[in-house]
Amino acid sequence: MDRMNYALADTEIPTHWYNLMADLPSPPPPVLHPGTKQPVGPDDLKPLFPMALIMQEVSTAPTIEIPEEVQQIYRKWRPTPLYRARRLEQELGTPAHIYYKYEGASPVGSHKLNTALAQAYYNREEGIRRIATETGAGQWGSALALAGAYMGIDIQVFMVKVSYQQKPYRRAMMETYGARVVPSPSEETNAGRTILKQNPASTGSLGIAISEAVEVAATHADTHYSLGSVLNHVLLHQTVVGQEAIKQMEKAGEYPDIVIGCAGGGSNFAGLSFPFVGANLKKGKKTRIIAVEPASCPSLTKGRYAYDFGDTAGLTPLVKMYTLGHAFLPPAIHAGGLRYHGMAPLVSHLHALKLIEARAYPQRACFEAGIQFARCEGTIPAPETNHAVKAAIDEALRCKQSGRKEVILFNLSGHGHFDMQAYSDYLSGSLQDDVYSEQELAAAMADLPSVP
Ligand SMILES: *Cc1c(COP(=O)(O)O)cnc(C)c1O
Repeated sequence: MDRMNYALADTEIPTHWYNLMADLPSPPPPVLHPGTKQPVGPDDLKPLFPMALIMQEVSTAPTIEIPEEVQQIYRKWRPTPLYRARRLEQELGTPAHIYYKYEGASPVGSHKLNTALAQAYYNREEGIRRIATETGAGQWGSALALAGAYMGIDIQVFMVKVSYQQKPYRRAMMETYGARVVPSPSEETNAGRTILKQNPASTGSLGIAISEAVEVAATHADTHYSLGSVLNHVLLHQTVVGQEAIKQMEKAGEYPDIVIGCAGGGSNFAGLSFPFVGANLKKGKKTRIIAVEPASCPSLTKGRYAYDFGDTAGLTPLVKMYTLGHAFLPPAIHAGGLRYHGMAPLVSHLHALKLIEARAYPQRACFEAGIQFARCEGTIPAPETNHAVKAAIDEALRCKQSGRKEVILFNLSGHGHFDMQAYSDYLSGSLQDDVYSEQELAAAMADLPSVP
């Protein structure tokens, strides 16, 4: 029988995270203080993050050891399975081999727990009692809520009010794990109260929720802030995914010609691809690495590589990244986890160096791909993940035309069990390919901060 599942023993989970910084041909540009425009130092970030994570943010060590306690909890769901999508290959009639790494196997249903757990661990080790964060659709909030339960840390989640109202099951999940979920804008912070005074009916935004969470962390000595994507240390923690995949591809007797991930802030893409980027740089491998984003929020494919704020309100340090402008508000697509105006600085740096490719797809084509995948393989991908599925199918169809047997590997970053409303909308024909306004994009681009 042909194998479909390339499992690893739980003794084979990585003991170290892989740090791409050590293998880059040139270092990424420094993070700048928004006032002085000088590189930020560790002390600038101390009110928000534990020192261990601040040091990981700038580390150039080739690997960083995963704390034993974190490894132990990883074993609850890691190593995640690597599957070969043989039924999809047959349906497409392609000579390509399609593999996917299934991060939906985590208890919260996505890759985000890989970093949530590590972040909660380092905060607890530093004596922090509470972490404040924001969540849009609820995936990051759920992951941090469970990580807080494992590590004995209180989690306060500012959830964008419109999602709080529309996604009651994600809220219930966070509360089940013991987190306190507050609809944002709230009366609990100056940032929230200011917004509510201007507009009592505000349904919130990710930018406002970030401002509230950062304010709580900055004004309480026992509280820190936590981010689920974008930052170097978040990408670092996700590299368990790609390291496992390399071992599993070995068991399958193959090596990928193409590695694909969907990219919102860039963390699941980086988690799968960075170890393969490292092999390209160090071992002369020639794997194509493709980041896939939504056509309605195309930071890598349509954005500018420039210094910008990480949040909408302009409170964070300035990072150089592909950005659509921090004031850009993308259309409300169902792949909420991909609606970020920028891209991780490390992923941006790779794109600027032409070490990775990027492409964008509209959402309906992605749902069509996700449904084709589900009918062959069973797993229903998250709307975000469907962007990676669509790219994998397109590459497999290209192989069909050329008759070349290429090996394709993509990251199935999460399952879509909490996103069935989006599938319903697609199936009933009411899902639109929302396009952003060129005028709004131009205005947001004109609002980029000036950096000498
Ligand atoms: C959050 C999320 C994403 C997007 O975030 P990245 O940091 O770009 O990975 C993608 N897929 C799933 C399932 C998510 O939960």
